[in-house]
Amino acid sequence: MAYNVTLIPGDGTGPDLAEVTARVIDATGVKINWEIAHAGVDIMEKEGTPLPESTLNSIRKNKVALKGPITTPIGTGFRSVNVAIRKELDLYTCLRPCKTYKGVRSKYENIDLVVVRENTEDLYAGVEFAPDSDEAKKIIELSKNKIVPHSAISIKPISREGSRRLVKFAFDYAAKHNRKKVTAVTKANIMKFTDGLFFEAAREVAKEYEGKIEYEERLIDNMCMQLVQKPNLYDVIALPNLYGDILSDLCAGLIGGLGIAPGANFGKDIAVFEAVHGSAPKYKGMNKVNPTALILSGVLMLEHLGEIEASKKLEKAVAAVIAEGKEVTYDLGGTAGTKEMGQAIIAKLKS
Ligand code: NAD
Repeated sequence: MAYNVTLIPGDGTGPDLAEVTARVIDATGVKINWEIAHAGVDIMEKEGTPLPESTLNSIRKNKVALKGPITTPIGTGFRSVNVAIRKELDLYTCLRPCKTYKGVRSKYENIDLVVVRENTEDLYAGVEFAPDSDEAKKIIELSKNKIVPHSAISIKPISREGSRRLVKFAFDYAAKHNRKKVTAVTKANIMKFTDGLFFEAAREVAKEYEGKIEYEERLIDNMCMQLVQKPNLYDVIALPNLYGDILSDLCAGLIGGLGIAPGANFGKDIAVFEAVHGSAPKYKGMNKVNPTALILSGVLMLEHLGEIEASKKLEKAVAAVIAEGKEVTYDLGGTAGTKEMGQAIIAKLKS
């Protein structure tokens, strides 16, 4: 059986990475009909929008997409195309496994963390008011002078249902992957209503898994220090949107950088797989950046499709190429280009 998957090359270094990744996935033997759909700054020049409806429709139809990074164009009405895709398709969970591979330069060993970030609410909801706008003035009035006049204002909405479904995803993931613990992280001592509600919802969900998966809570500031000092204490980490975004990069740092950090966005029945990193536009067209993060996102995609054997085989091939350290990109201490590293992974798959 062949799977229909939407392939979004993206922009900047995205098209190089997406092409190499699609070839590597094809080499696992899993049959995929790649339906190419565009988003980003290049298509904006042609179609006047960085996110054509046809691209969203392709993802809606195929239910699975692999996406290269996309630059956030300035002055288009889109704060971020990436955020828009997640919101349009209600991809409420962002999954970011962070694992050390032998051969990667990192101060840490044996890291195996999973960040589960809420993707649709919080300060990313896009509810922002400019200084002196009517809305900002009204809110300043409502705040009874707690807010300094002429302030700009961003609203942080957090709902019980939005938090519940995210934390439920984290627990289900933990159960399915034999993980022992979920840690919920916020700043609920300061934001008692919003972050407090996230914790409340998390505790409700945790009860359903009592005796099977441990649950604990941390404050985000303390969690940053703990992860730098004792990362092995943690397992699956569930967070609201902004904290999740920041902590994902911290965890990518623990495992040796953005070049090897994969990700996936899940909704009720749609999944979009993408690297944690952005479009690194200064390296556009240079065949330079590391394809590992997008290829490991492909590993997550194969797992999602139920192609478990192929996903394990591909992860093993990536790990072997990194461990040998010969055909690797600059960030892993090598001189290989994006394509050459992809070819080395294909050679490992076939050996
Ligand atoms: P970036 O992740 O694109 O790059 C930051 C630096 O990280 C690069 O200069 C490079 O040194 C390194 N890096 C990134 N990817 C790498 C790779 N595959 N291999 C080796 N090194 C790599 O972050 P940025 O420069 O802040 O963002 C550039 C654009 O990407 C912005 O417009 C931003 O909004 C967008 N962005 C998109 C996504 C996404 O598509 N999901 C995510 C983050 C940022």
